[in-house]
Amino acid sequence: MEKNKLIDEFYSLIQVDDPEGHYAGDIKDNSYFGMPLDAIVKAEKRLRSPEQPGLAYFSMEYGLATSCYNKLSSQFPLKPSNKLPENAVFSNFRVADYFFALRQDNIIDLPIYSGGLGVLAGDTVKTMADYNLPAAGIGILWNSGYFRQKFWFKYGQAPEKMHWDPATYPGLIPLKNRIKISLKPEDVHLRLWKYYVYSYKHDSVVPLILLDSNIEPNSQRARQLTDQLYRSDNVWLKMLQRVVLGFGGVGALNELGYNTGTYHLNEGHAVFAFVAKARGLPKDEVEHLKSKFVYTCHTPVEAGHDRFSFDDLSKVLKKEDTEVIERFGREQSGSANLTLLSMNISSAINAVSRNHQRVMHIQFPKYKEQIQYVTNGVHMHTWISREFMNLFEKFPETFNDFKANPMILSKANELKSNADFRTQAWQAHQSNKAGLCGLLDKWKLDKDIFTICWARRVAAYKRPSLILHDINRLVSIAEKTGPLQIILAGKAHPNDNLGFTYINEMLDTVDRLKEDYSKLKIIVLENYDIYLAKILTSSVDVWLNNPLPPFEASGTSGMKAILNGVLQMSTVDGWVAEATDRKMGAFFGYKNAEGSVGNEFDLHMNEDSKELYRSLEDLVGLYYRTNRQGKADTSSAWIDMMIECISVAGQFNTYRMLDQYKHLIWKTA
Ligand SMILES: *Cc1c(COP(=O)(O)O)cnc(C)c1O
Repeated sequence: MEKNKLIDEFYSLIQVDDPEGHYAGDIKDNSYFGMPLDAIVKAEKRLRSPEQPGLAYFSMEYGLATSCYNKLSSQFPLKPSNKLPENAVFSNFRVADYFFALRQDNIIDLPIYSGGLGVLAGDTVKTMADYNLPAAGIGILWNSGYFRQKFWFKYGQAPEKMHWDPATYPGLIPLKNRIKISLKPEDVHLRLWKYYVYSYKHDSVVPLILLDSNIEPNSQRARQLTDQLYRSDNVWLKMLQRVVLGFGGVGALNELGYNTGTYHLNEGHAVFAFVAKARGLPKDEVEHLKSKFVYTCHTPVEAGHDRFSFDDLSKVLKKEDTEVIERFGREQSGSANLTLLSMNISSAINAVSRNHQRVMHIQFPKYKEQIQYVTNGVHMHTWISREFMNLFEKFPETFNDFKANPMILSKANELKSNADFRTQAWQAHQSNKAGLCGLLDKWKLDKDIFTICWARRVAAYKRPSLILHDINRLVSIAEKTGPLQIILAGKAHPNDNLGFTYINEMLDTVDRLKEDYSKLKIIVLENYDIYLAKILTSSVDVWLNNPLPPFEASGTSGMKAILNGVLQMSTVDGWVAEATDRKMGAFFGYKNAEGSVGNEFDLHMNEDSKELYRSLEDLVGLYYRTNRQGKADTSSAWIDMMIECISVAGQFNTYRMLDQYKHLIWKTA
């Protein structure tokens, strides 16, 4: 009886579009694709209650790591298009590349992200669920995802269209609810989907509302709007994708009857939400709306700030919409600048690290007083490996309650003199590394050889090929100090020609390598995604991060690595600049002059690669003094640094981050 009541309540709150009863087997009793259904009913009721206004988080992309965290299950077998594809490997062990590929029998990540920004948004909503906040995420259902990266022999990356099946993706459900955005040339209709993001205890959820224009009666071109994330080859598409997120998101919240107190714009992409809310309001009330909007800026890089001409905007938006944009977002050049617009319509603005705040103060001096900073974090439960979770559980006196409060990890330092902990930390790491070697067994990786990884979005300022800059120097380190295993991975945006050349350069360098494979292995992995990110960040010895300062606003992949005791080799930029007094590995490289931003196209490759190799040589030396052909010296300074990394992870996580958002930005604390 109770159970029937629950399911009835679920279906009265959530209008599942399911004429064939397709979902009835997965949503029944108290089960939603294998998770507790009552958490959903509770959250949906609270979001509609007039007492407690909720938070709406808008983001163009979400990286939810569905393949490795809180995987929802279905009674139906996984459709082949929703399984991870077979990925090629490009290495200097060409025979293996030729005969083998990486096959992983797992579900694809929900393909609605491109890189770090999306992963941060995903980690944020997961933490909101852990904190049981009345919140909803708003995003877009990208019908063809971002893209699938194919290596095209050694000539670089060939982007391929990605195919997946939203209708059978476990946990994702279409709703009957439709909304309409009235635009000048045509109305755009959107269907709503929902995906539920569960807390790590599975007792609370944050609904993620996904907008989809691929429906009747939309025109063919309107149906394309939610096809591929970050289309930038066409102004109309680029602009309309942002209009869909902003206007569609506000429409969806109204349609669902959510009581929203705060609109959080994760990047300026979402700022049309303000324009949508302003429709039909008198001028002074528009002014009032600002108190409900907050804005997080994520990049100092020029290309990250969207600009549109008023000519283009007025072809799509109504006169009253462009008037609002004129009023709050017109820059001196006469264009509409979405960053400016976002800052002018928000009651709180934040950068994503202390360094990034300084850069924003230089870039936007007029807003100096308003721009605060909240350094990004990562979601512990997603990024911690099983091995390290077990390790921390074995030392409850130090790590008491670390699952509910990951800030406790800061206490890892207290265990530096505990021989048992030192040994077990090394063993946990070796066990993770053995997993990676197993995955790449055809490439003969050795768990007792120094392994370093660079993996993230391929963008010029991140300098993907820095470690390959002087291949002779690299070879000499391998000869003199000890063998090296280098892993590289990342996608370049399909319209980023410069990014493309980096991948080309990487593959070409590896192709020309004549060195003995046992001395120097370089392995480039295709189609980098969250699934690979989780494996790599937790299992290599050193995580390499070498952006050109000050263009990395925060960066997060290193935070995933330190959670698993993986050492850092990094330039001093983004979050790392807040932890340079911590002995986590090696910091090196160019520093921009105080008070200036510098030139993002002057990459300082020669000087910085020299510094990189010097740091690498030191770390490799220490590594082989620590790991002597499988025999570990656990009194080594290497282990001190591993423990220091774990301790720093107590600070750079999304729990600390959301505490600061509550205090400084949402002011709900
Ligand atoms: C964490 C993550 C990133 C972000 O990496 P940065 O080093 O912060 O640029 C990018 N892509 C994936 C798949 C990730 O998991």
